[in-house]
Amino acid sequence: MQTYEEMWRNLGLNLDAHEGLLKALSGFYSSIYASQKNRPNAMKYFDFVISEVHGLRIKELQEAKAQGKKVIGTFCVFVPEELILAADGVCIGLCAGAEAGFELAEQYLPKNTCGLIKSFFGFKLARLCPYANSCDLVVGETTCDGKKKAYELFNEFQPVHVMEVPQTKSENAKSLFHSEVMRFKERLEALTGTKITAERLQKTIQIVNNKRRALNRLNELRAAPIPPISGLDSLLINQIAFYDDPVRFTNAVNELCDELEERIKNNVGVARGDTVRILMSGCPMAIPNWKIPAIVEGTEAVIVGEESCVGVRNTRNTVAEGCKDVNEMLKAITERYFQIDCATFTPNTERLNHIVEMAETLKANGVIHYAIQFCQPYTIESKRVEDMLASKGIPLLRLETDYSMQDVEALKTRIEAFKELISP
Ligand code: SF4
Ligand code: SF4
Repeated sequence: MQTYEEMWRNLGLNLDAHEGLLKALSGFYSSIYASQKNRPNAMKYFDFVISEVHGLRIKELQEAKAQGKKVIGTFCVFVPEELILAADGVCIGLCAGAEAGFELAEQYLPKNTCGLIKSFFGFKLARLCPYANSCDLVVGETTCDGKKKAYELFNEFQPVHVMEVPQTKSENAKSLFHSEVMRFKERLEALTGTKITAERLQKTIQIVNNKRRALNRLNELRAAPIPPISGLDSLLINQIAFYDDPVRFTNAVNELCDELEERIKNNVGVARGDTVRILMSGCPMAIPNWKIPAIVEGTEAVIVGEESCVGVRNTRNTVAEGCKDVNEMLKAITERYFQIDCATFTPNTERLNHIVEMAETLKANGVIHYAIQFCQPYTIESKRVEDMLASKGIPLLRLETDYSMQDVEALKTRIEAFKELISP
């Protein structure tokens, strides 16, 4: 612990406030996760990672930096991790899911900014995030208006590279995104001093694809009639995917999937076969945003999928392998990322179809659409999601909430009523 304190001090953290945060996080985690029954053994790895979330992983980042590597922080799944790894960088997801430093954040941002944006600002300003403070470069993107304007302000505290992400799926938009992928490659090469060669990029495309394949394997296993793993645990794994070492993480997920396959064979799971199955859809739930899943699974329903960037939206497509040169690989990366169906795109019909497909494949009894309060893209799009699901006879509950705990009882009442309505 002493070692970590010195490391946190060197990273410029506010040690007292940070200690308070870790205590709160550990209490919240134990109350939600330790009370789950019949968890797979392989979850021990992910419990360990969480217990060391500001410890061992941060130490690894400092060691990487001491060896001359650069740490690059991202806020969006549109930023190609393959390129960061190929430039010999370490890629870390910086989105934050807790109400911390909001008063400080509100000195820069309007009160009615979504919690996710306020949170990454708040963590930085309150000196609580050892990840942000380890970064040599932060990568933003022009997705929603809130984020894109917030990056201009964030640039005052840390260097930010902003990728232009278009908002339609036209061919022109794709060429614009392709040029942004190339510009990002050049920025990375200048920062790290490492040339992104075909050999390096081919290898990192495989590494990131393997991570996605492992997560897809996990997500597919959740279609089993007796759910082998809870939604809370699956969400945790998808959250950890953003900051763990990708190769080690992939091995741990595959090990877990081996165990889940055995469970399915032996009809072992976390709930009975007649348990109400829910698909979550909408905004990303960054760590430690476990509020809604904890309420849902607290009602004895089970979450069988996450149609979210901390979920299947981030994993379902892979980059084509087998390209010969860097230019072809950059095109393959563009193709893959351009399929992401974020609500900041218009129109976004792929997402509507995909939610139906997921609900059917995972045999969900209903869908809960989650929007972070003040998130316009997802809140507005939820009407189209509702109409699409209604046309297929799939029930939907639309929820909009923030990171506070004030509305827990009200949410519980609505979720319980929805569960009653969709019970088979
Ligand atoms: S929801 Fe959109 S803006 Fe947010 S991480 Fe996903 S792709 Fe990026
Ligand atoms: S949750 Fe919505 S408003 Fe917040 S950063 Fe994501 S897209 Fe933007």
